Amino acid sequence: TQVPNITLNTGAAMPQLGFGVFQVPPDQVVEPVVEALRAGYRSIDTAAVYGNEEGVGRAIAESGVAREDLFVTTKVWNDRQGYDSTLAAFDESLARLGLDYVDLYLIHWPAPAQDRYVETWKAMEKLHSEGRAKAIGVSNFQVSHLRRLLDETDVVPAVNQIELHPRLQQEELRAFHAEHGIATEAWSPLGQGKGLLDDATLASLAEKYGRSPAQIVLRWHVQLGNITIPKSVTPSRIRENIQVFDFELSDEDMATLKGLETGVRVGPDPDNFG
Ligand code: NAD
Repeated sequence: TQVPNITLNTGAAMPQLGFGVFQVPPDQVVEPVVEALRAGYRSIDTAAVYGNEEGVGRAIAESGVAREDLFVTTKVWNDRQGYDSTLAAFDESLARLGLDYVDLYLIHWPAPAQDRYVETWKAMEKLHSEGRAKAIGVSNFQVSHLRRLLDETDVVPAVNQIELHPRLQQEELRAFHAEHGIATEAWSPLGQGKGLLDDATLASLAEKYGRSPAQIVLRWHVQLGNITIPKSVTPSRIRENIQVFDFELSDEDMATLKGLETGVRVGPDPDNFG
């Protein structure tokens, strides 16, 4: 499967669909990543706090896929925010991944109670200017946090990676991103599986299109223009989740999916976390 790219505000191309490895234990991450690369995924989303960067790096090395054909994302964890500590955390992530650059480096959470995300961003800008982070972005930033970066720093984030799925559609943030040239990346795009994927509306759309509920949800993300990074460790699901570029949901069905919004998060509230 060939995954289309989204052009970031740096001019770089990022695959619209990638592979997430949250909650995949370090000693079990090599196989699913190799499987994903075999299935055609070229973008991998990890984070220092996932504890599996080393395994991701090993899978990349084993896969034989050329580095320039891959898009690797990792993130600085909340306990390393601040200028010097972010620079050090970045070096440690690169060493664990066994790489000399990442394609995207993200501030994992704004952690507003710490009030250090502006100085953290200045370190990100330095890593970007050195070419060791080809693009820099944020994760879980609310409009107020983004506004502060836009007001107080130089580089506009390339990406904001946020919780986004049919039950939490993030219309306000998506509009703000569009206005400022920030790409929207959806985490927990399947709502972490349970619950959302059992929805009756999704079941009937799955039946109608001859696809799985997960494929209907991922296709919805693609048609909204989101970048998305579904996670699975099951080979058949890893393959299934990337088979979403050979069918299209009608406008009417996109409107039906809009009705699934509940505003309920599966993850923490970014204003009160970290
Ligand atoms: P997800 O929405 O991708 O759901 C994954 C779960 O859904 C799987 O564990 C499995 O139970 C189920 N599933 C997957 N494919 C399926 C299929 N085809 N059919 C049926 N069930 C299926 O949830 P996630 O792992 O939380 O999010 C994806 C990625 O986003 C993560 O791996 C991570 O890389 C990233 N993430 C980032 C943050 C952040 O704060 N930036 C937070 C959470 C996740």
